[in-house]
Parts: sequence; structure tokens; C-alpha cells
Amino acid sequence: MTLSAPRPAGAGERLDLHNSSIEESAAAAGHCGMTDLHTGRVCQEPAHHVHSCDFAATWATAATASRGA
Ligand SMILES: [Zn+2]
Repeated sequence: MTLSAPRPAGAGERLDLHNSSIEESAAAAGHCGMTDLHTGRVCQEPAHHVHSCDFAATWATAATASRGA
């Protein structure tokens, strides 16, 4: 037994979360979560969207804005 595997790999696991440029909280909310390293903005498109990423706002800003929408 090893402590390096806290949970088994499930069908719903997103391997792309291991990419350091993915905002995990955004991804957990169902967004793409890709982060623009230059601006810190996070892609708000759905996970695995087919078109290019849309870095519309920072994750914190988007989360605040969507709360009242
Ligand atoms: Zn994206």
C-alpha cells in the first residue's frame, strides 16, 4: 500500500487537472479552467470545449459575477 494514491482513478477523473495551468476550482465547477499564464485569466468555457479557450476574466472575478446572475 502506498500513500501516493489517495483514490483510485475513476471514470470521471480529469487527467488534465494534473496540468499546472489548470485552475482546479474552475475545473471542479465544470469549466475548462485553462489559465493564461500571462494574465492569470481562466477559461470559463465548459470542460473539454472544442474551440479555443476564452480567457474572459479571472476565476475570482467570474465566480463573483456569476453569483448574482
Ligand atoms: Zn478553455
